Amino acid sequence: MSARILVVDDVPANVKLLEARLSAEYFDVMTASNGTEALAICHRAECDIILLDVMMPDIDGFEVCRRLKSDPATHHIPVVMVTALDSPSDRNRGLEAGADDFLTKPVSDVVLIARVRSLTRLKMMTDELRMRAITSLEIGMQAPERSAVADTGKGGRILLVDDRPSSYEPLATILAAEHTIDVEPNPTEALFHAAEGNYDLLIVSLDLNNFDGLRLCSQARSLERTRHVPILAIADPENSTRLLRGLEIGVNDYLLRPIDKTELLARARTQIRRRRYTDHLRDNVQNSIEMAITDALTGLHNRRYMESHLATLAEQASTRGKPLALMILDIDFFKSINDNYGHDAGDDVLREFAVRVRKSIRGIDLACRYGGEEFVIVMPETDLHVAGMVAERLRRSIAGEPFAIHKGAKRIEVTISIGLTTLEQKGEAVADVLKRADTALYRAKHDGRNRVVSQAA
Ligand code: GH3
Ligand code: MG
Ligand code: MG
Repeated sequence: MSARILVVDDVPANVKLLEARLSAEYFDVMTASNGTEALAICHRAECDIILLDVMMPDIDGFEVCRRLKSDPATHHIPVVMVTALDSPSDRNRGLEAGADDFLTKPVSDVVLIARVRSLTRLKMMTDELRMRAITSLEIGMQAPERSAVADTGKGGRILLVDDRPSSYEPLATILAAEHTIDVEPNPTEALFHAAEGNYDLLIVSLDLNNFDGLRLCSQARSLERTRHVPILAIADPENSTRLLRGLEIGVNDYLLRPIDKTELLARARTQIRRRRYTDHLRDNVQNSIEMAITDALTGLHNRRYMESHLATLAEQASTRGKPLALMILDIDFFKSINDNYGHDAGDDVLREFAVRVRKSIRGIDLACRYGGEEFVIVMPETDLHVAGMVAERLRRSIAGEPFAIHKGAKRIEVTISIGLTTLEQKGEAVADVLKRADTALYRAKHDGRNRVVSQAA
């Protein structure tokens, strides 16, 4: 997995050095010698990650970072501050500005590559989600970018896994100032606890007694329910090689003991903000998928979904030798409902019709709005006889109870006609099945409406 890294430094020798190391690991490197240039490159979305020098003549690194993180167009680009000063106050200034990480000059090769790799993974995942979420932005959903930029990262739910009270007690006290925090001193319980708790962040000590904290991290990464929860590892400085392993297996960030309070809070906020942002993107993707397959008025599946899914159902039925029933339902004289009571009343009827359909069918049955006032229901593992009873029950559930319109001010009689058939032949084309059901429907209409007509294959 490669990425395009932007190296920003006003000293050409520093740029050259990082460029050479990153290129040797097959990263694609771009360079800039000042903040203005860097901002322009980020705006044109030309880089995936930015390595940013702090001290620069025009706009300093903190300010560049702040501008990137407060702009919806660039806030998702991971920023690593590269600084000669490794004082906690500088680190904290950077973290407050929204930096994702720090590298201290002289930069160690191993740490540089591990950090850049881990941020690359993150960036690729975010990009994929952003791309998919664009569809939902185009159809007018709220931009996750806007809320991400406004999010303080506070008020998160954190699980701290640490078995030494002398370590977890002060950490919990610090974190409790901004978040809700649970402590799990038993590492063998931690995974279960994490999966159940809907956490925004896991903080895992790598210095546990008789337990490998990295194993817990890797299990959390592979378990469906914890896969997307960020992990912040905490370790003694002599354990730093294990931290690098951690970054390889998906730990998002780390802190070395002794823990600096401000840095802990800042790193926790960064992870929580990121988690909320990607969750938001994921929701948007989910929504756009649902919108693409759902009819907005009735909430039933739409025709496009039914047509693609029907082919799969028919294939399954054929290979398993099971029957498959299909019916087309059409509301009788629907045009006159619109004509007499208005289009809104017609819409009310369609919505209520969908509610009654949903009540009459099983979870595995597929109901869709096929066209204006025409619906299709597909019933797996159902023969013509049983489907006929379901259809008759449906017909009665419509005709038997008047429909409320005009916000309940009026109730009108509605009836439906149903054409029913089954897929019998192995490999029969679904178009032929639909056609047979349609012919049966036509007969139901012709014979006087408010009835079910079955047509065997
Ligand atoms: P038949 O018993 O033969 O089916 O008669 P019908 O009036 O139900 O059939 P026709 O196909 O002539 O009319 C269907 C009407 O459904 C025409 C169209 O304006 C209306 N319609 C289609 N979609 C919607 C919708 O989303 N909302 C409303 N209110 N009406 C719709
Ligand atoms: Mg009709
Ligand atoms: Mg019609």
